[in-house]
Amino acid sequence: MTKEGPDSESPDGTVDDDWHLFASASYGSAEAEPAEVTEIEEAPEDEWFDGDDHIHSGASIDWEAPPCPAPLGIAHVIKIGTCDNCLHRIGGRRVDSTGAEGGAILRAEAHSRDSELEKAEIPDLCPLCENLFEDVINIVDRVIESTNDYEYSTMQFGIHLPKDMIQSEDSIRTKHGAQGSKPLKPSFVISIQEEITSRVQGVSFVKESPDIMITIDALTLRVDVDVRPIFIYGRYRKLERGIPQTRWPCRACRGRGGDCENCKGTGLQYTESVQDLIGEPVRSTMDANDTSFHGMGREDIDVRCLGSGRPFVLEIKGPRSRKTDLEELSEQINSEASGKVEVNSLRWSQKREVSRIKETRSEKSYTIRFKAGEELPEEEVTEAISSLSGRVLEQETPKRVSHRRAAKTRKRKVTSISDILVEGDEIQFSLRCEAGTYVKELVHSDEGRTTPSVKEVLGTECEVLWLDVEDIHSD
Ligand SMILES: [Zn+2]
Ligand SMILES: [Zn+2]
Repeated sequence: MTKEGPDSESPDGTVDDDWHLFASASYGSAEAEPAEVTEIEEAPEDEWFDGDDHIHSGASIDWEAPPCPAPLGIAHVIKIGTCDNCLHRIGGRRVDSTGAEGGAILRAEAHSRDSELEKAEIPDLCPLCENLFEDVINIVDRVIESTNDYEYSTMQFGIHLPKDMIQSEDSIRTKHGAQGSKPLKPSFVISIQEEITSRVQGVSFVKESPDIMITIDALTLRVDVDVRPIFIYGRYRKLERGIPQTRWPCRACRGRGGDCENCKGTGLQYTESVQDLIGEPVRSTMDANDTSFHGMGREDIDVRCLGSGRPFVLEIKGPRSRKTDLEELSEQINSEASGKVEVNSLRWSQKREVSRIKETRSEKSYTIRFKAGEELPEEEVTEAISSLSGRVLEQETPKRVSHRRAAKTRKRKVTSISDILVEGDEIQFSLRCEAGTYVKELVHSDEGRTTPSVKEVLGTECEVLWLDVEDIHSD
């Protein structure tokens, strides 16, 4: 059996999670950056130093500006322009407030210790964060604005900071910050999360599989919001011939639609597909943008799929609602697609199940009916067809798929043959065979490209009338 439809049929293939990879790779990478030790080269004047050499985080101590929380250290980081947020996170002092408020307390304390400090000329730009924290509200405004329409309970952040910023922040913090100070990136993420928590109820922050992935580029302040798809597993039965598994773009306009006469503007070669008969009710229930359909293989458009059905995973893209009753959904699909497609065993799934579904190769059972070139004695037919049971077929790539499949010879085993029925010149039988067997070709031989074949053992032309997938032996 063929497993693939036309190449053009999958414009909606799975999108790689580039952002996710990017985000996972960059999140927390501040800690992973090699600590840059800037003070390796000692000035010659320091050589008299008599051995009482305190080392702080790998760098020599600058006695004019020792690391925080020493008062001189705090005074120093204030002088170089450290903002309240950064002051709090590198100051190493526990105060009643966090974030900028905590930093302001430390600053006020420092001013009260040293009145000169308040008058000192201090740079406007924080050397640690380049005033990044000032953008928190603005960023959160945009996050909330772009997620307003969506239902979600988990969020993940990926922050991209320029590498030189990470390095210079790391070196200042290492030299002047208190031991164990939180690096810039996680501090920034926490600030954003705190602001969100204060404005949105019931959201938790996760490190994988979020409902919503937010990526922020600190350099350009670009905020990207990616509403993660939802996946539903199920099995479908296709009860009517002539329905493709996935949307099949119009051959004439290649799916563009418009004023195309061939498809009357729908962009579709066939108005119905298993994908949409199942996916549309789901899409509208979950108020989503679109769906992708991932089947465990596929049957030809003219082949029914019966038995317990074919496993699939439906990917629901951009869902505004993330919860629904699958039992009800299943009933809705089955009543709307009545007589055409039927689903069962619906359950929530995950992205990783898509690859499992795509990779699983399972034996299948079929029933096929064909017309023989001449009427043959029933016993002869039964014996000849039965002789193919247990045989390994050699199948060259069938002519009908050769434009999209590599030319090669596949070996596929016919596990068993049963229920041979002879009615005049029409013959029908059931068989079970290995995944990837071209079953129609097994019957008509594809001009000798499949051998052995029913045509070969009967010694007469065989024209396939219909084919049904009886079962997919998996899951
Ligand atoms: Zn700062
Ligand atoms: Zn068209």
